[in-house]
Amino acid sequence: MSGSENLGATVVRYCKRCLMPNSRPRIEFDGGGVCNACRNAEQKDAIDWDARRAEFLDVIEAYRRPGEPYDCVVPWSGGKDSSAIAHKLKFEFGLNPLLVTFSPLMPNEVGVHNREQMLRLGFDHVMVRPNQRVSRRLANRFFVDRGNPKIHWDAGVNTVPVQVAVNYGIPLIFYAEHGESEYGGRVLSEQSKKVRDFTEVIEHQVGDDPLNWADDEISEAELAPYIYPDLERVEQVGVKALYFSYFFRWSMKENYEYIRDKFDFRTDPNGRTDGTFTDFDSLDDKIDNLYYHMQFIKFGFGRATRDASRMIQNNQMTRAEGLALARKYDNDFPATFHADHLEYLGLDEVRLTEIIDLHRNSEIWVREGNRWNLRYPPE
Ligand SMILES: [Zn+2]
Repeated sequence: MSGSENLGATVVRYCKRCLMPNSRPRIEFDGGGVCNACRNAEQKDAIDWDARRAEFLDVIEAYRRPGEPYDCVVPWSGGKDSSAIAHKLKFEFGLNPLLVTFSPLMPNEVGVHNREQMLRLGFDHVMVRPNQRVSRRLANRFFVDRGNPKIHWDAGVNTVPVQVAVNYGIPLIFYAEHGESEYGGRVLSEQSKKVRDFTEVIEHQVGDDPLNWADDEISEAELAPYIYPDLERVEQVGVKALYFSYFFRWSMKENYEYIRDKFDFRTDPNGRTDGTFTDFDSLDDKIDNLYYHMQFIKFGFGRATRDASRMIQNNQMTRAEGLALARKYDNDFPATFHADHLEYLGLDEVRLTEIIDLHRNSEIWVREGNRWNLRYPPE
């Protein structure tokens, strides 16, 4: 899916409350020029969070499995959000979660360290690291063709926790946040903010049928880590997937503040991550620095805009402060792991630049002299 197919308008507009542009896939603006993620954030003030907590306590009582090793699966990257949830489920609510990680494409030291520190607190962990010949070939293909080296990873990260739940016979999965409502997207129903709708996930988050990725060097059998379990098998085990963000008010900043007191949680050693002003988010995969840069190339919003918008929605930053940060950092080149990116994707410098420019959406970017500039910079 290219950016121009999503845009459907020649003028980029920005949300009046946060900084998200209408070029973001699946975002919707209301008559007041405010995006659905901001409206969702406003609605949270009206939610009776005590009642939600009581509902949560009822739900987990029903899923406690005395005598069984695990009560639930927690899809776990080792980052602040999934670690905060797993920690609370185990130590505040007395559940025994099995942590499940779909390996980052390019694991880095910070992620490995943080996962190890958390596991030492006392969790069992299943990590699925797929065939690296296949994964690298797909990363190269998707980066060249679609400007996104993580298409197959998105499939795996959605699929593997469900595969593990089905194979271990664990009927409950706790996801972190419902991305479609938290960050802007199509929300199927109020219920889908609480219970993960597998159809929504397959259609809106994965998009592709992984079996179509087979070619002369990748067999269908080698695509197993990316293929969703049969929905019949999911129903046999009775797997239900819930969002923690439905029951407790969601804030990535508060998750970070929670987890950094629990173990030696390390942040980006550079003091901030390429393309943004934060140092605590999405740290475990070297490819993410390039991935977020490509979002900027394709859709016109960078990692700083993404982070600032979330903080504006949570009243942790003003729009003016966020705007200054977006202008300063969005266009920052992902230099930290640049050599690793070239090696991993099997590209040289010239070819990488060519591919980046190929994915610049001409409705968003304009060439002026030897520079690319946004036609409609955030304001
Ligand atoms: Zn907004």
